[in-house]
Amino acid sequence: MKRLTLLGSTGSIGASTLDVVARHPDRFSIFALTAHSNHEKLAEQCLAFRPEWAVVGSAEGAAQLEARLRAAGSPTRVGYGPQALVAVASDAGADTVVAAIVGAAGLAPTLAAARAGKTILLANKEALVMSGALFLDAVREHGATLLPLDSEHNAIYQCLPPHAAGSVPHGGVEKIILTASGGPFRTRDPKTLGDITPEQAVKHPNWSMGRKISVDSATMMNKGLEVIEAHWLFGLPADRIDVLIHPQSVIHSMVAYKDGSVLAQLGNPDMRTPIAHALAYPDRVDAGVRPLDLAAIATLTFEKPDEARFPCLKLAFDALRAGGTASAALNAANEIAVEAFLAGRARYTSIAETVARVVDTIGHRAARTLDDVLEIDREARALASSLLGAGAGAGIG
Ligand code: NAD
Ligand code: MG
Repeated sequence: MKRLTLLGSTGSIGASTLDVVARHPDRFSIFALTAHSNHEKLAEQCLAFRPEWAVVGSAEGAAQLEARLRAAGSPTRVGYGPQALVAVASDAGADTVVAAIVGAAGLAPTLAAARAGKTILLANKEALVMSGALFLDAVREHGATLLPLDSEHNAIYQCLPPHAAGSVPHGGVEKIILTASGGPFRTRDPKTLGDITPEQAVKHPNWSMGRKISVDSATMMNKGLEVIEAHWLFGLPADRIDVLIHPQSVIHSMVAYKDGSVLAQLGNPDMRTPIAHALAYPDRVDAGVRPLDLAAIATLTFEKPDEARFPCLKLAFDALRAGGTASAALNAANEIAVEAFLAGRARYTSIAETVARVVDTIGHRAARTLDDVLEIDREARALASSLLGAGAGAGIG
């Protein structure tokens, strides 16, 4: 029986994880569930899965959740705030931590899980992008295990020789090829990108996901973050990681070997497949996913990504090559710009503009400690906010 802490249980990955968990009560039980502000949904999840702990973002949220749970006769204990997240991520009551908080907020509890030697099922790519080397040091030093939930990285993990992930250069791998759907604006006239609304950007053609990652998919910053994530997970340099647009999202990624073989993992675009793979690893269990019907799909197509249409992809490759604080600055500036875009305070095209200026200005320092990373994260957020504010009437924004 695996005992899970699920960080970010009310989100899209959180809900898919609980869907798989509910299918296998003999294999998985829940030690803790966490949410930022949606304590109504968290209360329902607590009543269904009976965790020992539930954690929310604020004291007020915790009081409301506590009242609701007590009224229903639930014994689940309630905590709140960043310290409580760290506590449930490192508690001996769980052996496995699903890291499904969105953005930099997930870094501290995910790092705590690594330091506690947990098996970490990683969806929160931003944590790895911010602090790749430090994070992997913690994993190695404390004997933690890292299994990727991101569909591309999970696919690559499945296509690598057993136990090779993390110990590259592994036997005969030439390249990894990350596939990308190209998002909703793959064929849109680039001259009209400035007019894109948040509603258009969050409508992904193949996947149903949280709002931030949906915008990242539209700009292809998501693929850029995934290139950096793949670098850390599989130990390959930027020039051995390719991105290939594949609009049907059936091939989730590939590994090319020196002998000319290319291994791919296929499936319907449903996150329950990689989640079930990582949850049950090394076993295979039912994920509730429709069988893949290749005859009905009939055609799989591929194309090279267009750098002019997707400047964020190049920015991420450049940040990976630059090293140091560049990736953390890129991630923080992107979070701020996407938030501003979703709130109607910035144009779609200002996301790439803001990220480029922030990385240029402060992305060229060394990042040796977690404090260095957190400092660059703070500075990048402040600079991005001021650029977006200042630019509201003048080009940016
Ligand atoms: P989401 O917005 O649907 O859910 C985010 C979760 O994080 C929620 O439970 C929310 O309560 C919690 N959260 C948000 N801010 C928080 C904070 N400040 N402190 C604590 N908790 C907070 O997002 P999602 O789509 O489920 O994505 C989660 C992560 O998984 C992201 O890093 C994303 O890149 C990654 N991911 C998602 C998908 C997908 O299909 N949705 C696929 C691959 C990777
Ligand atoms: Mg992905």
